[in-house]
Amino acid sequence: MTLPTFVEYHAGDLDLERWWNKLARTVAVDYDGVLHPYTDGWKGSVPVDEPPVPGAKEFLQWCVQQRYEVVVFSTRADHAEGLAGILAWLLKYGLLEYVEGGVTHTKPPAIAYVDDRAVPYAGDWEAVRQGVKVLTLGNSHGPAT
Ligand SMILES: [Mg+2]
Repeated sequence: MTLPTFVEYHAGDLDLERWWNKLARTVAVDYDGVLHPYTDGWKGSVPVDEPPVPGAKEFLQWCVQQRYEVVVFSTRADHAEGLAGILAWLLKYGLLEYVEGGVTHTKPPAIAYVDDRAVPYAGDWEAVRQGVKVLTLGNSHGPAT
């Protein structure tokens, strides 16, 4: 048995070209620890009211200027209270206008993921193991979100 190619796998998708074009220009940005400082870790579904991480707004502006579409992802967004909290926070601090792709709790199709809990894979599994250890030992942001 051979695995299907990307095109075969998505043959049933009516709008594959649009989906692919969207993927190629989407940057997915984690919320806690990337846009929101998450200074004291998890305090409930609604984010603590604190200003964005320095440079976060400029990064989102840059994405829009480069014609990327920003999607924000967070497990907070898997229920209404958390999603509303994120949206209110983005609006309050002038970031919502840069988030064209919305807010999701799932992994969105994207060309790049910006995440404080990510370990990049570049073909070296030992480097990945070390990356996991570093994140485990340096757990400064509380539980991953
Ligand atoms: Mg995070």
